[in-house]
Amino acid sequence: MKNDYKHEDEPAMTIAVDAGGYYGEFGGAYIPEILHASVEALRVTYREALEDPAFQREYHALLVDYVGRPTPLYLARRLSAKHGCKIYLKREDLNHTGAHKINNAIGQILMARRAGKTRIIAETGAGQHGVATATACALMDMECVVYMGKTDVGRQQLNVQKMRALGATVVPVTSGNMTLKDAVNEAIRDWCCHPATTHYVIGSTVGPHPYPDLVARLQSVISQEIKQQLPGKEGRDHPDYLVACVGGGSNSAGTVHEYLNDPRVKIVLAEAAGKGIDSGESAATIHLGRVGIIHGSKTLLMQTADGQVIEPYSLSAGLDYPGVGPLHACMARSGRAEVLAITDDEALEAALELTRLEGIIPALESAHALAALGKKRFGAGEVVVLCLSGRGDKDMDTYLQHLPS
Ligand SMILES: *Cc1c(COP(=O)(O)O)cnc(C)c1O
Repeated sequence: MKNDYKHEDEPAMTIAVDAGGYYGEFGGAYIPEILHASVEALRVTYREALEDPAFQREYHALLVDYVGRPTPLYLARRLSAKHGCKIYLKREDLNHTGAHKINNAIGQILMARRAGKTRIIAETGAGQHGVATATACALMDMECVVYMGKTDVGRQQLNVQKMRALGATVVPVTSGNMTLKDAVNEAIRDWCCHPATTHYVIGSTVGPHPYPDLVARLQSVISQEIKQQLPGKEGRDHPDYLVACVGGGSNSAGTVHEYLNDPRVKIVLAEAAGKGIDSGESAATIHLGRVGIIHGSKTLLMQTADGQVIEPYSLSAGLDYPGVGPLHACMARSGRAEVLAITDDEALEAALELTRLEGIIPALESAHALAALGKKRFGAGEVVVLCLSGRGDKDMDTYLQHLPS
């Protein structure tokens, strides 16, 4: 059974998180008793920390001098000509470590330090979030332990080596399918044992409240910059469309944050259809998911009839999460966002197209957003801002295998 989410003319509801961490029916904090105190401490302090001028100063100084922000908003002329509109790329690929994930890792570790924590744990699938976290821990002299499924350790050797070089301990997880979901379970187990000293850095807009909102606010620097950069180029501070890919939802949440309730801006999200949404091998959570609870949050989730989590598949390691953030489930269900399912092949083609038209090799995740452009009809004067979430170095083997000879 497929969900059919089409963009309706105007969403009736305002999208916002409530005090319990709900976006409409999605979200909340479904956690074991033993984690209650840690999650609750984070819930009562995160807004205050984020709004403290001293925190903001330190965070933004690091974003500027260490991460390399603001990232450019680049008018991609040849790509625009091909799609018959004006396409701007928000260049998150130019951040230190090559993607948007560092924005969140630095912010959460600063908050952890402020709360007196001395130890950081994280889970990672492809290793991108693990590398971002290990990087920020080296910078801020924090102990770092990264849980990673043994299967992923085997297939992401370069990221494992980077994390170890940065001083992190990488713990291979041998339970379950030995992938991301199992690494999350192991990280939660660790957090339960060390609640006083340890902060758990979640890498996307998933998990129990307040994580989805915390991560969205830390990534919102992306849309704050778009709002500052666009007037100098277009004479207005909003695009007609925002386009981004969705794994757990952090780069897209950051891209839409300042425009969430601005009806002038249409939102297009690209999720991973893998080998096709009917193939049984996909990560198209929003198209295929049903309401369920995963990792502490009520959201759309790929599951069997009796509620077992279905292992997701995408050629792109950063998009194969079986759930999706509650904000995104809400944006889809309410009609605020149009959600397109993009196959591996469509993403590969779009990656090669950007490489050849603009001289930019995108991450395979970001290529899903690029492929969504080809499924839309834009007007000649319309302004589209697309979040180029990361660079393609890590995907070069995949690209070379698929290059037409
Ligand atoms: C991890 C990752 C994603 C997917 O995660 P979100 O939380 O949905 O942003 C997308 N692009 C890149 C480059 C990534 O590393």
